[in-house]
Amino acid sequence: MLTLEKVCAGYGRMRILHDIDLHLGEGEIVALVGANGAGKTTTLRSICGQLKTSSGSITFNGTPTAGRRPDQLVREGLVHVPEDRALFGTLTVEENLRMGAWTRTSAQAEKSLAEVYELFPVLAERRGQIAQTFSGGQQQMLAIGRALMAGPKLLMLDEPSTGLSPKLTWTMLEAVRHIRDNGVAVLLVEQNAKQALAIADRAYVLESGSTVLSGTGSELAGDHRVRKAYLGL
Ligand code: ATP
Repeated sequence: MLTLEKVCAGYGRMRILHDIDLHLGEGEIVALVGANGAGKTTTLRSICGQLKTSSGSITFNGTPTAGRRPDQLVREGLVHVPEDRALFGTLTVEENLRMGAWTRTSAQAEKSLAEVYELFPVLAERRGQIAQTFSGGQQQMLAIGRALMAGPKLLMLDEPSTGLSPKLTWTMLEAVRHIRDNGVAVLLVEQNAKQALAIADRAYVLESGSTVLSGTGSELAGDHRVRKAYLGL
């Protein structure tokens, strides 16, 4: 579904990503873990078309993404939830969700809305509440819910656990598993390697803009380098 081959990208003259190779198949949760500043967010920005790559190729659903804008990629099913969540703070929960459905027919939007409310019942209970009055965890659910309203084939989540308690983080990751079980592939960027590796089918470790290790979630969770550098063991 998604393939990166030797992708290089950066900001101005500063190159951040060096020859990134990554593969994500249908129905997979793939985690991208690494320290602060390793280039995880830059990788997501490159995939969704926000950042122009300087070389290498990115293919989504069999077609190169080069030259296509982020909104075109959303229509094709590539949807990104940025780390800052980018909610419409003064709109209600339901208004935020409906904004996510700008590419869909009204019948599709109603179906997705029912699914989002089933996945996150708190959003249904508080559908009329103004988004900026939500807690961090609720805002994260809303951001993911809004992304699901676009009918993604691939959902890219940037640090969904930011600002959440460990318990809420597990709830969030359980929801990510549900999303995968409903047929949406997930590329999950996390600093919290322990939790990400626990739910990932496969994962990549990014260091200084390069993918240095890859394997199944459990292989990497058992790897002594990963345990030492990212799991504090
Ligand atoms: P974090 O968890 O801190 O977000 P990350 O792995 O997602 O880390 P990136 O945000 O991709 O890392 O940042 C990689 C490098 O790119 C860092 O050195 C960062 O300072 C730099 N960087 C990020 N955004 C910009 C920008 N807009 N302009 C210039 N440099 C940037």
